[in-house]
Amino acid sequence: MTRDRLSPGTLLEVLGPGQVAVVGVPLDENSSFLRGPALAPARIRAALHAGSMNLCTEDGVDLGARNDWHDLGDIETGSGEAALVEIERHMTKLLATGARVLSLGGDHSITHSIMRAVAAVHPRLTILHIDAHPDLYDEFEGSRRSHACPFARIMEERLAMRLVQVGIRAMNPHQRQQADRFGVEVVSMREYQPGKPFDLYGPVYVSLDLDALDPAFAPGVSHHEPGGFSVREVLQLLAGIEGTVVGADIVEYNPTRDHADMTAMVAVKFYKELVGYLLR
Ligand code: MN
Ligand code: MN
Repeated sequence: MTRDRLSPGTLLEVLGPGQVAVVGVPLDENSSFLRGPALAPARIRAALHAGSMNLCTEDGVDLGARNDWHDLGDIETGSGEAALVEIERHMTKLLATGARVLSLGGDHSITHSIMRAVAAVHPRLTILHIDAHPDLYDEFEGSRRSHACPFARIMEERLAMRLVQVGIRAMNPHQRQQADRFGVEVVSMREYQPGKPFDLYGPVYVSLDLDALDPAFAPGVSHHEPGGFSVREVLQLLAGIEGTVVGADIVEYNPTRDHADMTAMVAVKFYKELVGYLLR
């Protein structure tokens, strides 16, 4: 199965309501510990097209037989502050067509830029943030753009009506304070009960940091935080969304830490399922 890869500039005319665009955002310079997630989009695509699995979602939608979703290739982000502006600009253009977008990170800093564009289209948004970490630092090691900070920026700018964080198991006192200040709904990994719904209605944006998973399932991340989700539990979280999934990202895949592409395949699994939800 091969699909055309087209640059984000060239396919705008075929995008429209009911269509899904997939874009890579190869930016990892806001990572605090290890680089590597910039390599992720290419490696996720390679795993998707390796021929080891078909393109059916678990709902039985054969993505291989449909022409209403498109991999647009990577955004050329550049670096520094300009990169975050560039991501927002590209995302705004894609969303203006009426299409929904799945972004492949990159480190988690990209989500702030993406949310600026998504919030402009969906003012009453709920974010389902699946992560080991709350990413609510006011600043981290001197940077307010760190991948440890995006949800502080998102809440300061009121880019979401609700932020629901699930899988958290690295909350410290500063971020607890930030969560209280912003009214974040935190479901820690310890409190998590499989199958219990989170009342995710209306437009829902899914931000999936792969370190939410237990490192046993997804070793290819920069920050191993044991005691996390199984792949099945995250799939069940996604299946439990009652509202409409209007956008999503998969971030923090670090191929330099992976074994036998197993985390790439986990990313591909969520890629397929999320495209399926975005097409609904
Ligand atoms: Mn994160
Ligand atoms: Mn994380």
